[in-house]
Amino acid sequence: MIEFQNVSKVYSNGTIGLKNINLTIKKGEFVVIVGLSGAGKSTLLRSINRLHEITDGQIVIDGKSITAAKGGELLRMRRDIGMIFQSFNLVKRSSVIRNVLSGRVGYHSTLRMLLGMFPQHDVDLALKALERVNIREKAYSRADELSGGQQQRVSIARALAQEAKIILADEPVASLDPLTTRQVMDDLKRINQDLGITTVVNLHFIDLAREYATRIIGLRAGELVYDGPASEATDEV
Ligand code: ADP
Ligand code: ADP
Repeated sequence: MIEFQNVSKVYSNGTIGLKNINLTIKKGEFVVIVGLSGAGKSTLLRSINRLHEITDGQIVIDGKSITAAKGGELLRMRRDIGMIFQSFNLVKRSSVIRNVLSGRVGYHSTLRMLLGMFPQHDVDLALKALERVNIREKAYSRADELSGGQQQRVSIARALAQEAKIILADEPVASLDPLTTRQVMDDLKRINQDLGITTVVNLHFIDLAREYATRIIGLRAGELVYDGPASEATDEV
């Protein structure tokens, strides 16, 4: 489903982000990428939906090169990819449901979105998504009235409302306390199991990675240093 073919990324200031990465992530997998700060985890994840451009190689999703995709095709490919960030990336002053509905924007014309008119079908999808992460009762609260863990669940719901087939989570629990961390990881895992959404999560704690992942990918200085079962990943990964 996601294939990295000889992927390298060098930032414009010369910093190496990724060095000749080859890997394949299958449909429905729950993969955790681990590595110290600066190892290239975020660079790898952001390369998948082209939040930034790679400098060599290509990334193929469902048989299609996203690296080569242009215009409408790129937008359609991106629609299948939900992104979750450490800092939640919600519109803080907007309601929870508005934030979740923003996952539907790619399905509608610009005019319709300027008018802020979402069809009932979208509202139903958004509420169902909130239900799946157990915060439906917060639908009409302002996003910034929620706790960190709840806000992260809103961003998961946004990816669900988007009907993403792939979820990319970049350090989704880095700003959460241990209890909330587990709730968010549990949600991601449950959604992966129930809906079969291919999930790639960046974490910097190997213990947490071992607990949740079936497969771990280890990065160090932009290079792939481990790719295998979670149970066999050592602390040095
Ligand atoms: P590129 O350099 O390939 O255009 P981006 O568009 O992703 O990559 O870069 C965004 C901005 O972040 C750049 O202007 C870059 O200078 C800045 N930046 C520089 N060093 C770092 C760093 N270590 N971590 C994050 N951002 C950085
Ligand atoms: P991680 O997510 O594992 O902490 P990153 O992918 O953010 O690692 O960073 C990999 C390397 O690329 C680091 O050396 C980092 O400083 C550098 N880097 C990240 N973003 C930028 C940028 N926009 N411009 C220049 N260098 C960057």
